[in-house]
Amino acid sequence: MLRMARMPILLFLVAGALCVPAGAAEAGATILVHDQEEYSRATADLKPGDRVILANGEWRDFEMVFAGRGTSDDPISLTAETAGQVIITGQSNLRVSGSNIVVSGLVFKDGYSPTGEVISFRTSKTDLATDSRVTQVVIDRFNQPDRLQTDYWVALSGKRNRFDHSSLIGKTNAGVTLAVLLDEEGSRENGHRIDHNYFGPRPVLGSNGGETIRVGTSAYSMYDSKSVIENNVFDRCDGEVEIISIKSGANIVRGNLFLESRGSLTLRHGDGNLVDRNVFLGKGVEHTGGIRVINRNQTVRGNYLEGVAGDGFASALAIMNGVPNSPIHRYVQVQNALIENNTIVDSARMSLGTGADAERSAAPVGSKLRNNLFLFDGLGSRILIESSISGIAFSGNRIVAHPPLADMQGVTEQSVATTRANNGLLYAVDPALADVGAPRNLKLASIDDVGAPWYPKPKRASTFGGGSSIQVPLGENTLGEAIGRAKEGDRLLLAEGSYRVDRTLVVNKSISIEGASAARRSVIRFSRPSLFEMGVGGNLRLVQVEIDGSEAPDAVGNAVIRTSTKPMPAGFEIELDKVDVRGLSVNKAFDVITLGKGSLADRITIANSRFRDITGAVVAADAETDDLGRYNADYVTIRKSEFTNVGNAIVSLYRGGTDESTFGPHLLFEDNRVVRCGHAERRGEAATLALHGVQHALIERSVFEGSAPLRVVQTTGNPATLISGNTFKNTPRPILTESIAKGPVRVTMQQNTFDGSGP
Ligand code: CA
Repeated sequence: MLRMARMPILLFLVAGALCVPAGAAEAGATILVHDQEEYSRATADLKPGDRVILANGEWRDFEMVFAGRGTSDDPISLTAETAGQVIITGQSNLRVSGSNIVVSGLVFKDGYSPTGEVISFRTSKTDLATDSRVTQVVIDRFNQPDRLQTDYWVALSGKRNRFDHSSLIGKTNAGVTLAVLLDEEGSRENGHRIDHNYFGPRPVLGSNGGETIRVGTSAYSMYDSKSVIENNVFDRCDGEVEIISIKSGANIVRGNLFLESRGSLTLRHGDGNLVDRNVFLGKGVEHTGGIRVINRNQTVRGNYLEGVAGDGFASALAIMNGVPNSPIHRYVQVQNALIENNTIVDSARMSLGTGADAERSAAPVGSKLRNNLFLFDGLGSRILIESSISGIAFSGNRIVAHPPLADMQGVTEQSVATTRANNGLLYAVDPALADVGAPRNLKLASIDDVGAPWYPKPKRASTFGGGSSIQVPLGENTLGEAIGRAKEGDRLLLAEGSYRVDRTLVVNKSISIEGASAARRSVIRFSRPSLFEMGVGGNLRLVQVEIDGSEAPDAVGNAVIRTSTKPMPAGFEIELDKVDVRGLSVNKAFDVITLGKGSLADRITIANSRFRDITGAVVAADAETDDLGRYNADYVTIRKSEFTNVGNAIVSLYRGGTDESTFGPHLLFEDNRVVRCGHAERRGEAATLALHGVQHALIERSVFEGSAPLRVVQTTGNPATLISGNTFKNTPRPILTESIAKGPVRVTMQQNTFDGSGP
């Protein structure tokens, strides 16, 4: 029978000196498998104590099902011959069900799951895993080729399962990194443990669905999950406004470290959760957040937050306003919250009644805020009260360096001497304040103690640089050949003179193309509709080059730089410094940069550059017209540049819909000179800058002359738009509108000069 059939393999194994203790009284068989057929045979009828070992090497297109019933004394295990040397690639995944299963040592990379999960704790809707463990596994950039395609990397179902000491790094496509599912009754009150994991960098997704952990969904949020998330490190988990989204009851989030992660730990739905002894170190990184409280009976105790730079939903502490009689997917009023013994240091904001508006009108009730320590660095109003706080009882809090708050009884303002303890955190020196703020014995989770110990953690590296410098000879197609040969991070150095390009150059690595000098000009001409196409893995930096589009043919979608027409798996960066672009006029809409649907630029940065005689846009980032809260560029920065006779809006940046899951898009437009721009009508409107749903826009110290108006449409959330210190000559006043909020337009206009009437 099957188990007999394994004998030759087992004998071979022992002969092969794999360590099987002679005469061990263990149940089960140990089987080393070398290919998928051997795996299928070995796993067809697993018995308690069986141990299946994947041989070192690459396993491609491997959909593993590992199901059986072990016992607590004799679990069934799947592991690697050597931890970290079994690489699962291609279209692969792992599904586990049964009981007392242990999986370890596997690395998923260079591929993606053909299904909705990479690792699932069920093999069908009814076959769930219980008392099982996945430990020391790695999922590294195992992303769907289309970033809008949704999947989970880890989906926990069943009961009492543990996911621990694993590394989940670089998820770029939509969908939660690790989800706890409550849709089956057999998965509720589950007691799962998610601990000692390394949640590595997750770049901005640019829409909802970029959470690193989600426990439950709104539809099942009335159920208790009883999951424990503890001693994990979240390192640069930036996907969206929620790093952890709790959408169920009775969970514990304890002892985690949130490092430079944008977004917050959000008690989004469900009651009776405990957030205890977590440390948030924002290090001043924009949009780093803390803890956001919604719903009933939540306890937030003993947490420490320092350098958290976010505000609004991403405030260090945000106690939200609710919706009266809230539907299940909206915001249940905060009732009976206990917020005690937390320390907040040098952070931008604590917010009470966060998100109060016509719909969210129910202020917190029956809640206590006590014995917290707030150490602010002085200036500005760090505590924002957006609603009534009569339902919050304050006692024993200490607050330093903040203007008096008459309506916060029980908050004592005083000078508090502090010192850093051995754990690196700040505490009050005065022994009388020993019980105020975070506990003295708070232990920071260490990045060295989490994740798969044998797998490296990603460093903080800059996008460009790190490679070699390569001289590119003048001539036809020499640039294309150089890009083809270039390695990640290389600098391609151009000579003085002319380069001709007869094909679209696909950029699928980080490269920098640099001209000779400001005086000795390097000119690129191209004879296809586009010069560069941003491909998978590409980042492009152009320095000190001239781009002349006059030899390009008339084609739909002409652009100097465009994104791939194929779906993109990840974001990318484009940087132009001291670049001259001219002669984009063969048809009516020749852009400098066109970002296609489904693409997201992390950053587009333009500085010290000149653009003239261009019929299209300089940055066309308005392809996401489905109004689902998606957009094409997270940060667009344009500084110290000149624009003359640009037909469409210099920047067209569009984010439609009412979703509140993203911090972006952002626009910074400063110290620029704009002459005769924006007169071509796009979608029936002429504009020099066309912003729709941009969350942060600063337009300052620029001169607009003989140009179309700026157009700003404000949508959801609390957009911050400042138009300051600009000069408008023969240019109409900006056209500012609110598409959702009632009342005056929330755009700050200050110190602008208007000279002459509009054309
Ligand atoms: Ca979300």
